[in-house]
Amino acid sequence: MECGHCRFYQTRESECRRYAPSPAEGDKKAHWPTVAHDDWCGEFVPREEQRQVA
Ligand code: SF4
Repeated sequence: MECGHCRFYQTRESECRRYAPSPAEGDKKAHWPTVAHDDWCGEFVPREEQRQVA
């Protein structure tokens, strides 16, 4: 149950894409939480389930 194996983990930027991005104060760009490969949370969904749906 790690971010690195979660369907919401965006590998290139090491971000969690579970929810919509938060607005930034300064640069007005979208920001998703940066997570580590071995982080985790209760919203975890294995990547394998994403493949079965597609
Ligand atoms: S385990 Fe949680 S924090 Fe990590 S990528 Fe999945 S939803 Fe995001």
